[in-house]
Amino acid sequence: MKIHTIDLQFMGVDRSIAAYAVEGSGGIVLIETGPYSTWEALQKGLIEHGFHIDQIQSVFLSHIHFDHAGAAWALAERGATIYVHPAGLPHLAAPEKLYNSAKQIYGDQMELLWGKMEPIKEERLYAPQHGETIETCGLRLTAWYTPGHAVHHIAWEVV
Ligand SMILES: [Zn+2]
Repeated sequence: MKIHTIDLQFMGVDRSIAAYAVEGSGGIVLIETGPYSTWEALQKGLIEHGFHIDQIQSVFLSHIHFDHAGAAWALAERGATIYVHPAGLPHLAAPEKLYNSAKQIYGDQMELLWGKMEPIKEERLYAPQHGETIETCGLRLTAWYTPGHAVHHIAWEVV
């Protein structure tokens, strides 16, 4: 198993937001997506590490805040399954409430900072149970619910 850190250079700033391509014996998965505003940087970063966005069929989210999960919908549209805490899943399926509550904080900077967020079809979303292990790409990822920063937070143990 090898972890590739993709620096998304959020707002042109190095080392502010990252996504992680985790390489197993059978391919790569993505942990976090960053916001949609860094979608191009994600694609470019994957290429720099020798991968391509279309290889990603599984995306594991720690939680659903925009800086971590804002581009998940774009990967789902390309066929990826998005693994997310059950309390976060409805907000990815219907992101309007999440988007509007963030808009109260960020106002007219919303689009610039985070980009758009589209609904994800329910069949592309999967909410693991606490302690459940997902096996894909020669990796085993176990979901541990870790509420605190957000109620919809998962720590993924990867082996
Ligand atoms: Zn957060």
